[in-house]
Formats: sequence, C-alpha cells, structure tokens
Amino acid sequence: MAEIKLACDCGKVQGQAHDMDAQKGNRLTCCCYDCQAFAFYLMELGRSNHPAILDQYSGTDIFQMPISNLTIDQGIEEIACIRLSDKGMNRWYAKCCNTPIGNTLGRNMPFIGVVHNFMRHQTSRVDEIGQNRAYVQTHEIKKQIPSALKGSSAKAVMRGIGKILSWKLKGLNRPSVFFTQEGSPIVSPIIKRKSEIMQNIKTN
Ligand SMILES: [Zn+2]
Ligand SMILES: [Zn+2]
Repeated sequence: MAEIKLACDCGKVQGQAHDMDAQKGNRLTCCCYDCQAFAFYLMELGRSNHPAILDQYSGTDIFQMPISNLTIDQGIEEIACIRLSDKGMNRWYAKCCNTPIGNTLGRNMPFIGVVHNFMRHQTSRVDEIGQNRAYVQTHEIKKQIPSALKGSSAKAVMRGIGKILSWKLKGLNRPSVFFTQEGSPIVSPIIKRKSEIMQNIKTN
C-alpha cells in the first residue's frame, strides 16, 4: 500500500494520501484561469521563498484522488478555503504559510485535486504518482506547450471523469476531512472574485 506524505511548506499541516499510485489517481496539469487566480491569491498573501505553484506554462500540477483516502493528521486548524464564486470549487490551503492543498467541489463529490506543493514525495513524484498525463484547459494561456509534454487533454479529462464516477459509486466522498458530518465546510470559504485577484496582480 503506497502512502504519500502530505505537508505544507512550514510543516504545521501534515497528512497522508493513503493507498495511492499512478493507476489509482489521475495526474494532470491545469492551466485554467481559476487555478491561476488561486496561485496568484496565495502569492499575494505571501509565500516568501517557497517553491512556485505555477510552472512555466502557468499550469498547476495536480493529482486527482478520492477524498476519503486523504487524512490530515496535524494542523487542521491552519486550513483555510477560498472560492472564486459563490458556487465555485472549494480551494483549500494552509494559511500558516499559504501552501495550496487542493480543490474540491461539495461534500457529495468524491474527489480532491491535490496541488503538487502539498505532496512530499519520498522517492520522486513520477515514481509515486506517475508522469503528468496531459495539460488541460490550455486555451487560456498564450505560451505554446511542446507537444511532447502536452499529452492528450481529452483522454486525461475522460480518465478523470471515469475515476470520479467509480469513486462516487464506491461512496468515497466520505469521510472527508474538509466537511463536517452535516456536510458543511470545516471553515467558511472566503469568496473572492478572480477579477479582483487578477486586478491586484496587474497594479503591482
Ligand atoms: Zn504551513
Ligand atoms: Zn484549473
């Protein structure tokens, strides 16, 4: 059983992704404007010398996995959440050092897209969760991604949807560390429009 260690940059928040590997989850890099806004929001809050969230193509390397396979063993009180719209994804982060944790929908959806910064690989990322399968949502970015890196976005998205459906059937939306028994988020999400976040970036 492959356990992947999870931790924020300062180490206050720690957890585990249980029984996960390349086959059991879905690794992809998302270039959508929302993921970029989330990264900019955290950069604005301050990440001093911590590793970058976005890669050179403005992509966020994420690993989609069942939420029930993720536990937080320490520092749960440091977890915060932002939404870019009233009904948008819940984007979780560690407020102690502004490390992105991952993205979820509501408590009925069985997955989390764990952001690479929150994973502490013992060997290597490729070894533990495989190669990046594809860059997705690339229409929002201007830079050309080399085709060798790009992969098939449609295939990776379909694979993700297939996984999520099977996790849903298995009831892997529970337990979730991010939602209470009653189904509300463990902390109230901050609502911040992406236009507001991106505006700050442009004026700085
Ligand atoms: Zn921290
Ligand atoms: Zn995205």
